[in-house]
Amino acid sequence: MSKSTISTFQLFAMFPNEEVARQYLEGRLWPNGPTCPECKSSKSVGARPKGYYRCYACDKLTFTVRTGTIFERSHIPLHKWVYAMYLLVTARKGISSMQLAKEIGVTQKSAWFMLSRLREAELDKFVDVVLAHKPKPKTKAAKRRERKKKRDAAKS
Ligand SMILES: [Zn+2]
Repeated sequence: MSKSTISTFQLFAMFPNEEVARQYLEGRLWPNGPTCPECKSSKSVGARPKGYYRCYACDKLTFTVRTGTIFERSHIPLHKWVYAMYLLVTARKGISSMQLAKEIGVTQKSAWFMLSRLREAELDKFVDVVLAHKPKPKTKAAKRRERKKKRDAAKS
């Protein structure tokens, strides 16, 4: 991937702990608020402590941001997952489970598990914001130019 990426330093500043990573992933996964993995609705969802949610439309089904994702049934803190994604995407020659284990401080078995999960995942869903610099918000003038371009394109 040739995307411009943030530095490791920036990454750590952005994701200092599990809590922040969880909130970030929740925002990515649920742009419209916590969404039940079963009925795909956010209407009857109530928040419980520590990132747990309950869907009252689905017989009080309890879920977290991990439910139904590559993070499910894993005890690895989410900020380590984020760092693993970062490494996987930024490593030019790929990354081995041994390397990953060393970098994020998990066992090689855990690292191997993470890599296999990450490789099957649609990483882009998560990493685009983690890794790419956010484009600067467009100025009014830039928006005007864009509209004009569209109008001109429509004319011809
Ligand atoms: Zn539900």
